[in-house]
Amino acid sequence: MPMPENAKNARVRVRFAPSPTGYLHVGGARSALFNFLFARRLGGDFLLRIEDTDRTRFVEGALTEIYDSLKWLGLDWDEGPGKGGACGPYVQSERLDIYNRMADKLIASGHAYRCFCTAERLAEVRAEQEKGGGATGYDRKCRDLPASDVERNLSAGVPHVVRLKIPAGRAVAFNDLIRGRIEYQSDVLDDLVLIKTDKFPTYHMANVVDDHEMGITHVLRGDEWIASTPRHALLYEALGWEPPAFAHLPVILSPDGGKLSKRKGAASVMDYKRAGFLPEALFNFLALLGWAPGGDREKMSVDELIAAFSLEQVSPKASVFDEKKLEWMNGQYMAERPAESMAEDVASIWRDKGWIAGGGVVDKYVDDGYIVKVIDLLKVRSRRITELAESASYFFVDPVDYEEKAAKKHFNAESAERLSSIAKTLDGIDDFSHAKLEETYRAAAENSGAQISAFIHPTRLAISGISAGPGLFEMMEVIGKERVLRRISAAVKAIKG
Ligand code: GLU
Repeated sequence: MPMPENAKNARVRVRFAPSPTGYLHVGGARSALFNFLFARRLGGDFLLRIEDTDRTRFVEGALTEIYDSLKWLGLDWDEGPGKGGACGPYVQSERLDIYNRMADKLIASGHAYRCFCTAERLAEVRAEQEKGGGATGYDRKCRDLPASDVERNLSAGVPHVVRLKIPAGRAVAFNDLIRGRIEYQSDVLDDLVLIKTDKFPTYHMANVVDDHEMGITHVLRGDEWIASTPRHALLYEALGWEPPAFAHLPVILSPDGGKLSKRKGAASVMDYKRAGFLPEALFNFLALLGWAPGGDREKMSVDELIAAFSLEQVSPKASVFDEKKLEWMNGQYMAERPAESMAEDVASIWRDKGWIAGGGVVDKYVDDGYIVKVIDLLKVRSRRITELAESASYFFVDPVDYEEKAAKKHFNAESAERLSSIAKTLDGIDDFSHAKLEETYRAAAENSGAQISAFIHPTRLAISGISAGPGLFEMMEVIGKERVLRRISAAVKAIKG
């Protein structure tokens, strides 16, 4: 159902229009996100439309992954699959009659024609053109086919496509909101196919018809579509429609300057989820790919991003996908996340490692409260959920060996003495709170005339096997007296033996 003209002018309507040809990669997610921010900023509508008319490229499972990825990122659509809306259906394969009706209209008005050329003939034409070294393209044989021939072919059921008549010798221009005026010569454009032999529309046809029918006011899409836009402009003209405004978003490059690809680390949104990133961090990071709010603001909430977003600050220059920056940002978001909200994801990794229930390891120490306490200690020093989870082994299993360099430095006859004596003291205290532990260590250091660090370093190594980690006393409190004493005694044995 076309939007009424007045509503169309009053309200911004944008769409994300993925094709289910694979997972949602970060470039696609950035397009979706800019559309989302633009719509929210201007109080408009954000639509999701599935462009699935290329049946040869359809990938099973892609749709579910696209929906899951968008939802995980918080890119909730106002109209589209699962939501409905006045312009549905929002899946192009369910709209075939609309495209065919429009194609008939174009044929009737003389803007399009049926082309009966076979694939073999097109290949021959191309081969000839290539031999001649000139431009390749359809030679427009059927463009002026007499009506009687067309009728005969149709009644004989000869397969055909519908092509747009590209006007000769014309400049085709459009105003890109990010790049300014872009102009093409119509003579370089082929008479593009609108409807294929199987009655499915091409991307161009379905895209233009739907943007109009769904009342889309602004098309924000990746700049790989720039070359398609003059064709779209001519199609709008032929259909007698006002085109929407266009904004082509800058390309995203990998840190080495090449195209972003799966091999170079840029992967699907769900890969980032699996790699331990938080949706709000990826959201924030993607928003800054090609757009900047001005000043040095970087870490921004969704609401702040919405309030600050504008197309004027989108740069036409390529932006670089800097995974280090994403990790940094993720660390910032993890530090402020309540531990409870990460518990499920973290615990599932621990379960896989056999560190908590399921694996049968030290379960008597572990309950929900314990999991949250461990996350609280580690979240401020981790950049990913996975990194946090993997760094936690000593909260579940006694260390079996000790970091070599640290052991050389902190394990010796003297520190074994200190460990034995502090263990005795610890055995005698009931209050195993970090405050009490700190007090105990201070007193021990004072009595022995040594620095407190001479007690702290060997203890940390004995308990965790490594030299870095959260504050020792907080860590000891969480691990608990029984295991702390057991580990100190094992370390003393290891030093002596
Ligand atoms: N279906 C196209 C894609 O997969 C949409 C391009 C556009 O936004 O016009 O990216």
